Amino acid sequence: MNKQGKNGIEWCDATWNPVTGCLHGCEYCYARRIAERFVPKEKDNWDDCTQPGNGLHEIRRKNSNGGQFKYGFAPTLHSYRLGEPARIKKPQKIFVCSMADLFGDWVPDEWIREVFDACERAPWHTYLFLTKNPKRYRKLAGHGDLPPQHWYGYTLTGIEQRPEQLYSNWRTFVSLEPLLGMPDMEFLRHDNTLWVILGAETGNRKGNVVPKREWIQDIVDQCRDAWVPVFMKNSLKDIWGAPLIQEWPKGMKL
Ligand code: SF4
Repeated sequence: MNKQGKNGIEWCDATWNPVTGCLHGCEYCYARRIAERFVPKEKDNWDDCTQPGNGLHEIRRKNSNGGQFKYGFAPTLHSYRLGEPARIKKPQKIFVCSMADLFGDWVPDEWIREVFDACERAPWHTYLFLTKNPKRYRKLAGHGDLPPQHWYGYTLTGIEQRPEQLYSNWRTFVSLEPLLGMPDMEFLRHDNTLWVILGAETGNRKGNVVPKREWIQDIVDQCRDAWVPVFMKNSLKDIWGAPLIQEWPKGMKL
């Protein structure tokens, strides 16, 4: 578990990564850059690991020597991390899997269930999930496998087709980050969107997109019309040029 400050993500207190790795292949992905940078040169302790097939991996015991990135950015379950929330007694807003897409189609249901079980063992925390694949939420909800008490986010960058509507009853938020274009804000009218997070691409990628101020203004105006709170990340500071709007959704424990 990494505390806020170390993780640089202003809208949570801590990040927790029981699963790492992602196959979406976004070219702006900061998590892949970190994972690939820290792949250890010496791959020892292989007896702690299993490879269940389909390109999936499991690491069962914490070890030194950069062991957490043994498999780079390939989907990996870190079972030794499943007990971490229960060991932290002070309530935290925890961003679950900042280094993965836990709801990617390649992630086995059992892994997701293990993560939910770990959350259930520490119900005093607030858990925030984020995915590029929100239809998996609907699928899990259809089987009764989606605990309603969590917060379920999905990411839009503004260059996708209109997002699939969720019509969800669970608590949904949308992360517009990195903002690469003006997103279709129709989701404000159809989904149970309780919060919108906004941020710009960071890092020095070639082709890095700087969002236009008018997109941000338009997004804020539409959120205001829909009574949806907005949280601007520090990456927008120079573009916005005014105090950042950093609001929290009603019902979230702060
Ligand atoms: S969805 Fe997120 S974690 Fe996955 S490749 Fe894209 S930016 Fe990286």
